[in-house]
Amino acid sequence: LYLDPRLHADFRPAAEATLAALLEAYPRVALEALRLYDPEPGDFSLGCCDSGRTIALNAHWFDVPRALFDDAVVRGRSLTPAGAPPWHGHVGDLDREFDRLLAHEFWHAMADGLPGAAEFCRRGHAAAVAEPSLAVSGYAILDAAEWGAETFAAIWLGGAGSPQVAEMVEFLAASR
Ligand SMILES: [Zn+2]
Repeated sequence: LYLDPRLHADFRPAAEATLAALLEAYPRVALEALRLYDPEPGDFSLGCCDSGRTIALNAHWFDVPRALFDDAVVRGRSLTPAGAPPWHGHVGDLDREFDRLLAHEFWHAMADGLPGAAEFCRRGHAAAVAEPSLAVSGYAILDAAEWGAETFAAIWLGGAGSPQVAEMVEFLAASR
């Protein structure tokens, strides 16, 4: 797996370990690289996965020391209104938030080649829209693709108390 040399040393060990573990668990995923991209002005998104072979992370966050990312995560958590689903689930501790992002993007790399995944995510997303307390995070409600990525990330971090996590574990076990 190619790791962009621009990825800051603060993130490198976690990127190596997490992506190696994900690829070992899901060896059919054709992920080839983690690259950084230079954002357009005002783009503070964390990353994306377009091709299925490359995870792209925003250089704004990831070619600088980790403190900027950690501060933003803490601020984001504190801004979530009481009673609203947390945007990225608050699943896991702050020190696992980068792992959560990698697992999220890994799902996007995996989903295209996974038979039945589109239909599974469409149904899971529809259920979460109908009953938002089922969703692992607020972001999971956005669309079926993000529902899949957020739910998969919740599995990777050890669950989120949502029955949808167990449903995805079952789906993945059946599609091996
Ligand atoms: Zn996503």
